[in-house]
Amino acid sequence: MNLPAHIIEAKIDLTEHIPLHVYLVKGEHYAVWIDSGVKDMFPLFVETMQKADVAPENLRFILHTHSHHDHIGCNGQLKAHTGCLIAAHPHYANWHSDFEEHYHEFSRPFPHLIPDTPELRAEVLDILDEPAPLDLQIDEGTVFNLGGGVTLEAYSFPGHLLAELGWFEASSRTLILGDAITGLDWELFHSHLTVQGYRDSIDKIARLLDELNVEQVLFAHFPPMTPDETRELVKKAHQYIDDVESTLIRYCASQDTVTLAGAWETLCNRMERLQEFRSLNMVYAHIQDLIERGILREVDTETYQIR
Ligand SMILES: [Zn+2]
Repeated sequence: MNLPAHIIEAKIDLTEHIPLHVYLVKGEHYAVWIDSGVKDMFPLFVETMQKADVAPENLRFILHTHSHHDHIGCNGQLKAHTGCLIAAHPHYANWHSDFEEHYHEFSRPFPHLIPDTPELRAEVLDILDEPAPLDLQIDEGTVFNLGGGVTLEAYSFPGHLLAELGWFEASSRTLILGDAITGLDWELFHSHLTVQGYRDSIDKIARLLDELNVEQVLFAHFPPMTPDETRELVKKAHQYIDDVESTLIRYCASQDTVTLAGAWETLCNRMERLQEFRSLNMVYAHIQDLIERGILREVDTETYQIR
């Protein structure tokens, strides 16, 4: 698929199976990056801006989809190089300004189950450059006018994180997403932190394809897609979240009581994913969702029983 001339891709492979696409959007007055990838992408960003004829001083903002480490990794270098401002939803503002808090809140909300190790620290922190506090707090409805008819409007898609935005570029009818639709068949669970939020957000994406007459959808970890391809992906994402839920319910129904740790291990085994911190947070979100819906109840600390 050919991208519009004013939307330019910078892409690397994070792993053999997980690509990372980051997009530069260029208007007549200024340009922005949607997210800033990982710290090693900085030379690629500089080269991409040069090729696109964007002078450093014309890079005015980094507009974030969300605040995960692989989406904010070049903020320090880009800000130093261009003087750009950092704009993101305020919910995770401290993840931009304090990487120690980013590390613990992202990977160790259950510290007794996830040890603080040099390897985990390296995985979370080594792709970040320098802390760069938010300059602008944004939310759904915020519009940036880049000039020449190029505009970016924020839409809210919580789920993968509790606050996540997507950006609609009106002149090319392009919807630019971060991880609002997560990786579905990775070797690890990409994770979501609110189950109903994730379901609602992927339905909202499908609805916006029609309402905004979207022509193409860009993602951080998928190649560009047509609206029909995106509708298929939304269906697959529903199937995925239903599979996670039903696997957990079946396990809970087969036991007298289950623990958070046991449910985490069992889900990863049964769905053949690596057992690591992202899925622990996801399993906790599903347990909370099942409690709210009256399917599980908490009988002791991190111990649950089906009703
Ligand atoms: Zn993410």
